[in-house]
This record gives sequence, C-alpha cells and structure tokens, in this order.
Amino acid sequence: MDKTYFIETYGCQMNVYDSEFIADLLSMKGYSRAASPEDASVVLINTCSVRARAERKAITRVQQLVALKRSGRPAYIGVIGCMAQRLGSDLEKAGCRVDLILGPDTYLDLPQIIDGLENRDGPFVDIGQDPACLYSLKPRVHDSVTAFVTIMRGCNNFCSFCIVPYVRGRERSKPLGEVVAEVEHMVGLGVKEVTLLGQNVSSYCGDGTDFASLLRRVSDIEGLRRIRFTTSHPRDLTPEVIEAMRELAKVCEHLHLPLQSGSDRILKIMNRGYTYGQYRDTVELARSRVPGLALTTDLMVGFPSEDDADHEATLQAVKDIAFESAFTFKYSARPGTRASELEDDVPDAEKTRRLQEILGIENRMIDACKQSLAGQEVEILVEGASKREEGYLTGRTRKNWLAKLPAKGVRKGEVVVARVTGVSRWMITCDKVLLKGGGLI
Ligand code: SF4
Repeated sequence: MDKTYFIETYGCQMNVYDSEFIADLLSMKGYSRAASPEDASVVLINTCSVRARAERKAITRVQQLVALKRSGRPAYIGVIGCMAQRLGSDLEKAGCRVDLILGPDTYLDLPQIIDGLENRDGPFVDIGQDPACLYSLKPRVHDSVTAFVTIMRGCNNFCSFCIVPYVRGRERSKPLGEVVAEVEHMVGLGVKEVTLLGQNVSSYCGDGTDFASLLRRVSDIEGLRRIRFTTSHPRDLTPEVIEAMRELAKVCEHLHLPLQSGSDRILKIMNRGYTYGQYRDTVELARSRVPGLALTTDLMVGFPSEDDADHEATLQAVKDIAFESAFTFKYSARPGTRASELEDDVPDAEKTRRLQEILGIENRMIDACKQSLAGQEVEILVEGASKREEGYLTGRTRKNWLAKLPAKGVRKGEVVVARVTGVSRWMITCDKVLLKGGGLI
C-alpha cells in the first residue's frame, strides 16, 4: 500500500487542530497528503457530535466514501473524533462499514494502527478516554500565517444540552511551557497570528497559571503579531482576562462569548451558570475596558419548553447587546445529555421561525456595523491570495472581519493598514493600503 492520506474535517476548531496533529504524525511516518479521497490509501473523517445535523452530514459522507472504496480506492476508511467516540461500533448499524473507529484521545498510535489493518477482519475500534491526553503540534512546515494552538481539552461544565464533556472527557490544561514552546515553534515557521483554543479557555490552569497570565506570557513571544482565543464561558471570564485584552497590543479586540438564550429560566435549565443580567454586566465591563471590542456569540432556539416569552427575551438580548455576529442554531437532542431526557416539545417549524427571526435582526445589525466602517482605516493581517478574485489578497482585521485588498506591493504575512472602500455582509474591501507594519484599529 502506498503511504498517502486524506483527512476531511467537520466541526469546531479543536477538530481542525487535531486533524493537523494527525497530518503531522503521519508525515513523520513517511505519509504524504493526497489531493482527494480517490488519490489516498487512507481516508480519515474527523467528525462532530454537537448537533444531530452534523452527525447526519458526516454519516452521509462516510457512506459515499464506503461506496467509493468498493472501486478499490481508498484502501482504508477511518471515522475519528466526537461522533466516533459517541457511536463506536454502532457506526456499522448506521451503514458505515469502515476500517477504523477512533475517539479523540487515541490518535498518538494512529500510524501503527494503520499498519495493523491489513490482516484484520472487522474494524479496529478504540474509543477509550485518556484523562491526561493533550496533543502538541510541532510540524516541520506550515503554509499559513495563522495557526490554532490547543491549550486545553475537555470540559467540566455539563451544560445540559451539550455532548462535549461525554465525548471529550474532563477538562485538562496543557502546561504553560508546552503552550509557549508550541507557539514559538509555529512563529519559527512563519506564523504571525495564533488562536488559543479550548472548550472554555477562561478556566485554563496549566501549572497553576491562569488564562490572563498565559496571555501575557504568549504576548512576550517575539515575532508573533496577533493573539486570538476561543471559546470563553461567560461565567468564567475574569476581569483579569479583560485587563490583559486591554493592555496587550497583540491580543485582538474580539471576544466570542456564547449567550445561548436571553431567558433566565432557559439558562437555568441549560445549566449555564449565569443569568442574562450577569452576562450583560460582563459585556458592559469588557466593552468599557476594551475600546472597539467586537462581540460575537452563540444562540440556541427551541430548547425544550422554550415558549414565546423566552424567545422574546432572546430577541431583546440580541437587540440590546448588538452583537457583531452570532452563530444561531436549532436545538437538537443529544443522546446521553440531561436535556435529552426533557421533551423536545418545540415543533421544528417553530424552531425554524424563531431562528429566522433572530437571523433577520442579526443580519440587519451586521449590515449596519459594516456600513459604519466605510472610509475607516483598519489593520489587516494578509493571509494569502484571494480564491475568488485575481489580483487581490485576503486577510482579517483585528475584529476578525474578512477583508480583501489589492495584491500590488503587499505580501502574505504582512500587517497593513488600509482604508475601507466597500462593504458587504461578509467581506470588506480596502482599495487603498496606507501603511505597512500595522498598528491601528
Ligand atoms: S461549556 Fe457547555 S457548551 Fe461549552 S463545551 Fe462545555 S458543556 Fe459544552
């Protein structure tokens, strides 16, 4: 068998990081990345279990690949990640007759496991959980100027709707020294911006160091231009982290703070650990201390027993807080969670109606926010050539808005200041580069 692999990744940035870790591991064992599943001897599907829809999508994709395998290529198909952890051998009942099923804590031995597949009758399954499992990424090459660095894994919060603590285990933090070494390594490969990842970075505690101190330490790394982080649990976001955001020039003015619902009654059943009033106080503190802060959130509609008054409370919260953007989802029961024992009593059509109502308000707010940018100067980290428009590069502003700018005289990896000349809902256009080196907004 030739040593080629292809990884398809679904779900959150944690999965993206894990897929990069696996790619690194396989390349150290002589594998090379294939351009498509048809060109690979090993195909891995890294799955998400957070919503029923994400699982259905992954299962459909695995079924397609199983059909492809009958033509002789790829030789092996593996399902890995959170859905693999949740379903294990039951994946076969879902029509996924694959060769490999691995949970998120079992990737270290992947090359040896693949070597042993040849003589197996039936899939290799390992969904054991390792409470100490923490991966560190140290690739030899990295072709992007941005990188994810996982600083912790798992979660202790047990929000009643969420499968993560069950499939990713309890919270554990990567030691401070390892995080710093990993960021330094990535900077050595040309990375200018890191996003520190965890299910709840606000409760980071590596070697007794809290998240605010970690931000300060990472900010000292020479050559690194920007730091982002996600996700922060509203209950655990401390004034110290907000102060670090205010003081450290490298930390971008963007905070992703999932609200989920504006109704205290629903927040309580969700086991979120805060009221809407407490959430709003945290937002007010953050906005007062970090000028120009961009705030984004996650919202869930149709949680069990959510009535019109609860939904109204969420709509009001969206209007009051005026998020820069929101990821809004319909509730779907995840087997094994506490919420799955409650009756899923909001009809799907009503969930859709509530979702559309929130999206309508959100889109108007995004548009207004973007319109207000016209003529302003923004700092952009240039990430590479535009895939859609020749002669243009794309990058992101400090607030994480996608931007495009003319390629002339500007290179990937540069931080520039440019004037906004056009806006659409998802992209800003900057036709005039004013300054290289960055330093503004
Ligand atoms: S904080 Fe809540 S929603 Fe987030 S991963 Fe943990 S349990 Fe899930």
